[in-house]
Amino acid sequence: MKINFDALYNRMNEDSKSANSNSGNKLPYPVVYPHADGKLTFKILYNCKNEIVQRIIKRHENGKEKIACLETYGLDCPACKAIKEMTDLLGKDAGIWRKFPTKERGFCFAILKDIPDTYYDANSKDAPKVGDIVILMYPKSVYTDIANVIADAGKTEGSDVFTGIMAKNMGFLITLDRKRGTNNIPKYEVKLSLREKKCIDTGDDAADDAKFDEILSNLPALNDIILPVSPTEEIHNGAKALADTVRQFYANGAVVQPNGANINIEKDNNMISGNIVATTGSVSKTVKQPDCYGNHDGSSKCDSCPFETECFNAS
Ligand SMILES: [Zn+2]
Repeated sequence: MKINFDALYNRMNEDSKSANSNSGNKLPYPVVYPHADGKLTFKILYNCKNEIVQRIIKRHENGKEKIACLETYGLDCPACKAIKEMTDLLGKDAGIWRKFPTKERGFCFAILKDIPDTYYDANSKDAPKVGDIVILMYPKSVYTDIANVIADAGKTEGSDVFTGIMAKNMGFLITLDRKRGTNNIPKYEVKLSLREKKCIDTGDDAADDAKFDEILSNLPALNDIILPVSPTEEIHNGAKALADTVRQFYANGAVVQPNGANINIEKDNNMISGNIVATTGSVSKTVKQPDCYGNHDGSSKCDSCPFETECFNAS
């Protein structure tokens, strides 16, 4: 398989730039996402400033813009409401989820220990490499698996596994393995290696431990990364603005009944249902699940696919 590394890397750079569009701050480390098959091994880094390990967020997308979903904060989200309303009105085939996708992602700070060669072009000087601190971002299922691995370690009484996973240089690494299951469907597996290993290893134990501790204490607050921990006025406004955009985008459209008759959408038109084709301007388009549905592989096409979340769950 030929991989266009330049396109891939440019896209990931775009992701990491736009990832922070809500706060306007530059991300302190590159974002790494398991977008290819292979084993990614890393040391997860405990966030001393917030006393957490990872976070999970939900964002809407409008083109390249990423907009915080208020459900991230346990609040009703006007953008989700608008998307649902328009989907109920126009039907699933109208492709509102394609135009305005919603994605749920976990992330943490980590030090890369092994990267599949499918991830980056080895010649690219900008590509994250072994030993680098990164913001590791992943699907929701991986977030849950990592949380379970940590919770299980915490249950082992008298064990040092818990701190060894994330707070000590000599400890344990996590491997995220993306591979293919039945029907070529990608599967993500999170495994904790119980063979103790040094994360930073120059041969000088005391110096390596000190360096690791210094990294931990100097990490920025994870709660300030990508989205703030509480919704700001800007975030509320962003979700409201997206709700308006969604409604306006579809308000001027028309629906086409299966017999081809055009009907303008009216506010009180709740009768429209069934097999509806939405039109934008004069262009009629039917949006249906792509042929690859159920074969979520986390590639760029998945990132821009409106069925991404449900496909991932079905994969
Ligand atoms: Zn939302």
